[in-house]
Amino acid sequence: MSTIIKQNKTLADGLSGEQLFSAQIGLTYRDFLVLPGFIDFNPSEVYLETKVSKNITIKRPLISSPMDTVTESAMAIALALQGGLGIIHYNNTLEEQVKFVRKVKRFENGFITDPIILSPNNSIEDLDDIKEKFGFSGIPITEDGTFNSKLIGIVTNRDIDFEKDRTQKLGKLMTSNLITAEVGISLNEANNILRVKKVGKLPIVDVSGRLVALVSRSDLKKNKEFPDASKDLNKRLLVGAAVSTLPESRERVSELYDAGVDLIIIDSAQGNSSYQIDMIKYIKKNFKNLDVVAGNVVTKEQSRSLIEAGADGLRVGMGPGSICITQETMAVGRAQATAVFMTSHYASQFDVPVIADGGISNIGDIANALAIGASTCMMGSMFAGTNEAPGEYFYENGIRLKKYRGMASLEAMKAGGDKRYFSESQKIKVAQGVSGAVVDKGSVQNLVPYLVQGLRQSFQDMGYKSIPDLHKGLREENLRFERRTESAQAQGSVHGLYSYTSPTMRVE
Ligand code: GDP
Ligand code: 5GP
Repeated sequence: MSTIIKQNKTLADGLSGEQLFSAQIGLTYRDFLVLPGFIDFNPSEVYLETKVSKNITIKRPLISSPMDTVTESAMAIALALQGGLGIIHYNNTLEEQVKFVRKVKRFENGFITDPIILSPNNSIEDLDDIKEKFGFSGIPITEDGTFNSKLIGIVTNRDIDFEKDRTQKLGKLMTSNLITAEVGISLNEANNILRVKKVGKLPIVDVSGRLVALVSRSDLKKNKEFPDASKDLNKRLLVGAAVSTLPESRERVSELYDAGVDLIIIDSAQGNSSYQIDMIKYIKKNFKNLDVVAGNVVTKEQSRSLIEAGADGLRVGMGPGSICITQETMAVGRAQATAVFMTSHYASQFDVPVIADGGISNIGDIANALAIGASTCMMGSMFAGTNEAPGEYFYENGIRLKKYRGMASLEAMKAGGDKRYFSESQKIKVAQGVSGAVVDKGSVQNLVPYLVQGLRQSFQDMGYKSIPDLHKGLREENLRFERRTESAQAQGSVHGLYSYTSPTMRVE
């Protein structure tokens, strides 16, 4: 039997991670490449499970930024279903942020857990209003129109279509002989009942007959399973939330904790501050089983401060974001690849994972960030412009767009988003970000599988089957890199063509 020698160390050319970054010149993801390794596995065997922080593990290394044009509950739900993680922004009231977190924690795939309900005393006109506003007309009726009372009927189009007098009460018209299921039923079983009984809606009730959720026949085809979803021990989706270092955030953390948040990110553009250290210590002391990611940092010294204070993870990046003008305005920051390598090299001694935050615009950037030590990647512009990002689509020159803005853009700061930039609510605001638009990318449900497939192929080319293996390769210097000159970068992109169509992120 012949043995294949996967790597002969005496032939290792290129540079180790340490050699690559020893030049003391700031490098970005585009300034280097990973040299190919040996392939003896398929992309489908690549395993992308990774740690966000000491105690939070997810199946895909993808996190959405806490920005008000990126992550609210719809984004956090979609990403967690796909094995990633969403971090809810805090450019809102405490109540709103808590509501977003609750929505993610209560989400059950296929079950509408907060259906609109009415009482028997409501009229057909009320139902017409709901139909116009939300588009649905299958409405459960409870005794007093709230979740606290018994389910007594359901009204659908069929009950009211031909009624001329729209002031009639629903109690008279509703269908009261109901097919329901008890709480605890699986989605498969619920779908089966909808199919067999040929009904449009299946109300789920508790032992006392109170409405808990609704399953809709029109969702049957959409109700797929998500085996890689990011979930807690109670099988609820994982979600993170960002808070500032301001004292008011202590109350936020407490309410977010009660709502079931799994991870807090302390959001600060320059994380090495006494405010942040106090905040980390406060959270670690007062909240059990709540991981804290601290940041942002870009140097070993900043990382030391925050790890010593008790951080469970580090968020790395100062100035690489697509909407960011910090480096130009403040003359402070660091090129992102150098920042990721230096901080993760240091933090790995303490098993503190690093999130590479900002400056990621394609699959290769994600792969590079992981190869130089990051455990996950946080992205804003990548997920902005998807269906799940907050905001409405609009058209400019015939192109469908969504707004994407920096949290330190004048526009976002006016809406309260400058809490991470230590601006003591001065009258003169110096922007560190811009406001713009990105193209429509369709749904995160299609985008994430595309990113994952690309990453798996990249790992195959590098010759590594998992993120921990890749990091071991980096530490043991088996993973080799090469600097790229500007002409190498030009050669590595499309060149010499009269015209071409570049692939888009919009995956159907
Ligand atoms: P209806 O028969 O007029 O209620 O409408 P459909 O069943 O055709 O579509 C309702 C769509 O809205 C489904 O995709 C539901 O999952 C979704 N939906 C979201 N929230 C609610 C809600 O509170 N009530 C109802 N009935 N549907 C909801
Ligand atoms: P992107 O993925 O778009 O390149 O970068 C997103 C990241 O940029 C966010 O996660 C956050 O760290 C950072 N960021 C968000 N808003 C601003 C801003 O207004 N100014 C700066 N300097 N950074 C921002």
